[in-house]
Amino acid sequence: MRHIEERISVPVKNKCDVLVAGGGIAGISAALASARQGKDTLLIENEFALGGLATLGIVTIYLPICDGEGHQIIYGIGEELLRLSIKYGIEESDAAVIPVAWLENGSDEDRKKQRFQVQYNPNMYILELEKLLLDAGVRILYGTKICAVNMLGDRISDVIIENKSGRSAIEVGTVVDCTGDADVAKLSGAKTATFSQGNILAAWYYYMRDGEKRLNMLGFCDIPDDEKTEENKVTLLHENRFSGLDAEELSLQMQLSHTQTLSDYKRRREKNKDTEITMLATIPQIRMTRRIVGDIELDTSDDKKYFEDSIGMTGNWKKRGPVYEIPFSALRSVNVKNLLAAGRCISVTDNMWDVTRVIPTCAVTGEAAGVAAAMFEDFSNIDITALQSELQKNGVKLHTNEVL
Ligand SMILES: Cc1cc2nc3c(=O)[nH]c(=O)nc-3n(C[C@H](O)[C@H](O)[C@H](O)COP(=O)(O)OP(=O)(O)OC[C@H]3O[C@@H](n4cnc5c(N)ncnc54)[C@H](O)[C@@H]3O)c2cc1C
Repeated sequence: MRHIEERISVPVKNKCDVLVAGGGIAGISAALASARQGKDTLLIENEFALGGLATLGIVTIYLPICDGEGHQIIYGIGEELLRLSIKYGIEESDAAVIPVAWLENGSDEDRKKQRFQVQYNPNMYILELEKLLLDAGVRILYGTKICAVNMLGDRISDVIIENKSGRSAIEVGTVVDCTGDADVAKLSGAKTATFSQGNILAAWYYYMRDGEKRLNMLGFCDIPDDEKTEENKVTLLHENRFSGLDAEELSLQMQLSHTQTLSDYKRRREKNKDTEITMLATIPQIRMTRRIVGDIELDTSDDKKYFEDSIGMTGNWKKRGPVYEIPFSALRSVNVKNLLAAGRCISVTDNMWDVTRVIPTCAVTGEAAGVAAAMFEDFSNIDITALQSELQKNGVKLHTNEVL
């Protein structure tokens, strides 16, 4: 392949204490947490709306913040964002679950039967999430892609962006990588890993039939190979697997997703003429791509394991029972001192990835990363109890013995 030199000097147009890369649920939580610590927080988002997969990707099910056995395990911003998502009511659709036992102070017995999860309206969520961040003092820069970083030793000194104004740089204190794809980690030379199995094709979309809104979850779930049984076999929409890290492949993924949606719609319309598509995803629906490799890679075998540096917990959306403490070391880059990751690109094993990539866990890791990014300049040796006590002030529970 032919290579050309690209040497350009860019103006340093902006500066911030904490730069949050990506405005999905992880980025929103990180930016909110950092701004609430009083830091000048700048959130950079490639699209022109917040929410990432949770809004533009039409993934509108806020999976459980409980363990499935009657215990709430996620508090803090993880709970706040769940409640915000249903501020105007739970999305009415055939896939919607209304967790009455949780929303209306149900009994312990009722809470064991029903998981604390909701379905929400993505358009309303986009508007409310933006308002939440602006009210907290977060600066948001839309339509902007982070495309390079400038390193000073083992720290990111500036992040280089490209948008309608051209290329420029932002001088940063600390950085939280919430791109979902560990883009900043990769650009800064932090240790990263990719998802070995690749992602199945998904084509979730909203349609209306007989006046009723429905979420059609084509390509429902990507079950890891070693969890597959005859019963839980998924019906694949396409034979291709997608890494989510190649521009041409992503374009193909979007086109295939559109083709599947169209043929599914036509099939439905043949049965019922009163069917119309009401919302399509505008970003690729890809789950696991690239992540950082931290000192710890959290694994499914870590169920109820105590981590001294826990920053919060998550359950398993697929099973009732498991509760995982999430160690700070799964958010920290081992070699870039002022970089943290949150959301679907934290340090986990391939098996665990499918558990932690979901909306509630992205909020938990986002909140912790945001607070840490505001409190410390170097993450290699932080005062973990100081971080934990800040998180606890916002109601976060850190260890399983606090909730079980
Ligand atoms: C088909 C499908 C179904 C799913 N089902 C569910 C479900 O039912 N419930 C659930 O809880 N979870 C579900 N998930 C998972 C969940 O939606 C996501 O993993 C989660 O929302 C990810 O949040 P995030 O903030 O880590 O990343 P993302 O939502 O991916 O957000 C990353 C943001 O960063 C921006 N960005 C990326 N790179 C750059 C860059 N270089 N510069 C600037 N901005 C950048 C993107 O535009 C995006 O807005 C599903 C996922 C898929 C694909």
